Amino acid sequence: MGRGMDRCRRQAPGMGTGCDPDQVAAPAPSTAASSPAKPDAGQRRSVAIIDDEACMLCGLCEPACPTKAITMGALAAQVTTGLCRGCGICVQECPADAIKLI
Ligand code: SF4
Ligand code: SF4
Repeated sequence: MGRGMDRCRRQAPGMGTGCDPDQVAAPAPSTAASSPAKPDAGQRRSVAIIDDEACMLCGLCEPACPTKAITMGALAAQVTTGLCRGCGICVQECPADAIKLI
């Protein structure tokens, strides 16, 4: 321990600099702000899918959809995914629990 102090005195006689912990350069604060999260980064819109086996073609979901994304097919209701905004109204309407949001 003493050797270190001796070395400091030799290197900076009488100046009190060089070994003063308070004058040791602190790491420069990062000027690069952390990049703000992009709101939609890595996220995608949910869409409704219909289980053809479970659908009993009751037709309740079709008029319930605010974007008219649901039509009645021959065997089951169909979702046009491009129109679906994932609101989930149809999921709540379906008595057969045939609609899921993915
Ligand atoms: S989730 Fe909403 S927009 Fe999509 S099919 Fe169902 S009711 Fe329509
Ligand atoms: S509400 Fe459910 S059971 Fe009725 S048509 Fe739509 S998906 Fe099929």
